[in-house]
Amino acid sequence: MKNKNKLKCINELKSIAKSCKNCDLHRNRTNVVFGEGNIDSKILFLGEAPGYLEDKTGKPFVGASGKLLDEMLKEVNILRKDIYICNIVMCRPKNNRRPFFNELQKCQKYLLTTLLLIKPKIIVTLGKTAISVLLKRNIYINQYRGNWKTYFDTLVFPTFHPAYALRHTDKRCIMLDDFKKIKEVYDTLLD
Ligand code: URA
Repeated sequence: MKNKNKLKCINELKSIAKSCKNCDLHRNRTNVVFGEGNIDSKILFLGEAPGYLEDKTGKPFVGASGKLLDEMLKEVNILRKDIYICNIVMCRPKNNRRPFFNELQKCQKYLLTTLLLIKPKIIVTLGKTAISVLLKRNIYINQYRGNWKTYFDTLVFPTFHPAYALRHTDKRCIMLDDFKKIKEVYDTLLD
């Protein structure tokens, strides 16, 4: 799809999402947190749900998790401006609880349309929820992370959620090693 058309479609999707009331999460939100970044990126990072600061600003991964994610990206020389980043659900669940099944379901059409439009070559899933929703089964992240999978013809790399690595500092090295593996493959992809 030509870039201008793609941008138009993404913006249309965004404006539909901004007024979405398909589940109860809309009742407590300040902002819908739509994805952002390079819409032509080869790599898309997929989180779980907006937190407090994301809800306030309408931007994904701007809080503590986002800071750790930025550090990891910097360590492996991937620029945040070069990636696309979004979440499984676009509205903040109260007290940062995990999204309920019906909330995950209702938000999926936005995610799937985003994936069809961006067409990343790599999807990096952050945490249990993102990989479980994408692969439609309950995944134990500690066992599953760190290896390449596929989602149709897209490469998928599951790793920890930065919030988890913030709580379990011993996991940060493992997460950084995951990012190094991602970077190796990212560098081999042609435009
Ligand atoms: N955690 C997420 O999963 N997504 C965000 O945007 C922020 C924190």
